[in-house]
Amino acid sequence: MERTLVLLKPDCVQRRLMGRILSRFEDKGLNIVGLKMLRVTPELAKRHYAEHTHKSWYPGLEAFITSAPIVAMAVEGPDAIRVVREMVGATNGLQAAAGTIRGDFSSSRQMNLIHASDGPESARRELAIFFAENEICEYTPMITPALRADDE
Ligand code: ADP
Ligand code: MG
Repeated sequence: MERTLVLLKPDCVQRRLMGRILSRFEDKGLNIVGLKMLRVTPELAKRHYAEHTHKSWYPGLEAFITSAPIVAMAVEGPDAIRVVREMVGATNGLQAAAGTIRGDFSSSRQMNLIHASDGPESARRELAIFFAENEICEYTPMITPALRADDE
């Protein structure tokens, strides 16, 4: 079992796509164990996007990510970090494969609707930024026996 951080970015909220995109993770059988709406501050943006703050396009990214509320989700499942990244698709919506979230809904490099952690270390780091331990709601989904075999 893995947990990963998903953010529905301001363009997702503005375009009323929150429900449709959240549904994709539910449809896949992933377990949503944390969910909140918040406004990203410039400080939070710099913390979350620490690896990008020195880049020429960072100011535009910060302006975008702070422009409207976002939704943060903790998503759990077998191999969830890789599975969610593949569902999200390539960074640039114009290059993302059809069938991925960005490929189906985004035509932008910056306004690509969604963030997903890119590996176990970033998942740990990013989940801790957006969720306190007591904000994660663990539960056993009753549909698990209908989703996969016992030995999977
Ligand atoms: P990903 O979100 O696919 O992991 P990156 O970590 O490379 O992509 O970039 C973080 C976010 O910064 C992207 O999702 C996108 O919103 C924005 N971004 C990436 N590259 C550019 C760029 N060249 N110009 C403007 N914004 C960018
Ligand atoms: Mg990234």
